Amino acid sequence: MQTVHSIDELRATVAAWRRAGQRIGFVPTMGNLHAGHLSLMTQCGGLADKVVSSVFVNPLQFAPGEDYDSYPRTLDADSALLAETGVQLLFAPTAGDIYPQREQGEPTRIHVPALESELCGVSRPTFFSGVATVVNLLFNLVQPDIAVFGEKDYQQLLVLQRMVADLHMPVQVVGGPIVREPDGLAMSSRNGYLSEAERQQAPALHQSLQQAAAAIRGGNHDYAAIEAQARQRLQDAGLRPDYVSVRRAADLQIPAAGEPQLRLLAAAWLGKARLIDNIAI
Ligand code: AMP
Repeated sequence: MQTVHSIDELRATVAAWRRAGQRIGFVPTMGNLHAGHLSLMTQCGGLADKVVSSVFVNPLQFAPGEDYDSYPRTLDADSALLAETGVQLLFAPTAGDIYPQREQGEPTRIHVPALESELCGVSRPTFFSGVATVVNLLFNLVQPDIAVFGEKDYQQLLVLQRMVADLHMPVQVVGGPIVREPDGLAMSSRNGYLSEAERQQAPALHQSLQQAAAAIRGGNHDYAAIEAQARQRLQDAGLRPDYVSVRRAADLQIPAAGEPQLRLLAAAWLGKARLIDNIAI
């Protein structure tokens, strides 16, 4: 695996592959990699000739007071894992490389109004615009044919699919399934913020989603009651629910009773961590 830090090196390497007719796959990350990230690399390897990954903790998607400074930065370990997983190129830029003009004023931003203010966008109003902005920028640098994002961040996946559709960007954005710990907790870099006791409580998030999903699959269409029950279960387990919401899978709009293709999404705080999870119905 080759590791590059500069934009020029990245562009030169990918351009040579493209000239040779190779299909470029891309998996952006913020590092501190776990099996969830690596499953996306493997998936991408099956869809492209070359897999490019990036490790970049994007300041634009953190609000003041969030964990930008303390976010785990583990580039050496990440690089070893990516090499083992068969990634061909790791791009690891600094914030100065990506936003060289930031001192002179805020960078150009992408907004996805149809999706950015819902669900996670309520408590993190600048988050999805920060993500869309950096992914658009990284797409411009890598120019991939295909990019893979985890369904763990389901709303993010839809935001990015909407962005490429709206802007007619020549890249296919595909989702990869959620990878979980044996007790059901979705893997996340932020799980490392949990104390041992909190780690024992954390699977309640997935459990409450499973219970709610079972109720819906069993024919209960009273989504408001199901959501309230799930929030109560989270509270009883010691989590602080942000939201639990039944949505249409395709566009995250509020579904009519009995609509097919739903997605149940939730977020909750536990200690210093904000955990998210979702499940297809
Ligand atoms: P992050 O480093 O948290 O920005 O995540 C980078 C990519 O990995 C995103 O597309 C995430 O959705 C994806 N990802 C994170 N955790 C998981 C997981 N447990 N299962 C599948 N994909 C994941």
